[in-house]
Amino acid sequence: MKRKGILVVVSGFSGAGKGTLMKQLVRTYDTYALSVSMTTRAPRPGETDGREYFFVSQEVFEQKIRENGLVEYACYCGNYYGTPREYVERQLLAGKDVILEIEIQGARKVKEMFPSALLLFVTPPGIKELHRRLAGRGTETEAVIRERLGRAQAEAEGIETYDYLVVNDDLQACVEQMHRLIQDAHCAPKRNQEFIEMLRTQLTELCAHADGQGQVSH
Ligand code: 5GP
Repeated sequence: MKRKGILVVVSGFSGAGKGTLMKQLVRTYDTYALSVSMTTRAPRPGETDGREYFFVSQEVFEQKIRENGLVEYACYCGNYYGTPREYVERQLLAGKDVILEIEIQGARKVKEMFPSALLLFVTPPGIKELHRRLAGRGTETEAVIRERLGRAQAEAEGIETYDYLVVNDDLQACVEQMHRLIQDAHCAPKRNQEFIEMLRTQLTELCAHADGQGQVSH
């Protein structure tokens, strides 16, 4: 049976360390494909177009929405963010587990459209640590940091939408935990419906054959 890829949504407060975590996961295991989102936000120092994001204008983003070229999109702190459809569909078909690092509105849309998606929420060990990480980046103004903390407060209300909580204390331990959760998710009945149907059909055939013969033959 050809293994099918699953969609894995990873959300978490800004500053929770999702980006580093995802890069490390993809570097460690070759079963994952990391989707690169499209955004209208300006690149931060060190970010490259096509690597962290596809940085585009509002016009280009809205054109992409009209073309149905995005799996989902959302507005976050005044900017658009969205998941390009083509890459996701191609990688899933190739059997890869596709990771979407997106915020909670997008996560909800993905869950609605793809009920078998796995939703993970990454948190820092505590909120003091989150503030330290956000300020420590040195790339955001105090006003932006406050806006993102406000957004974190709203997102904290939706954590129960997710399947699992992952506390990002130690990077490598966290990568291993995510890998285990995703691999275990492959075994859930709802992600193996075709296989289950095949077993049922074979059982029906065997029982019908046995009835005909008066016994079960092998
Ligand atoms: P940042 O500006 O810090 O890179 O990202 C801000 C937020 O947007 C993060 O929570 C990130 O996960 C989310 N985000 C990034 N790409 C996407 C996307 O394609 N769709 C949605 N809905 N959120 C995204």
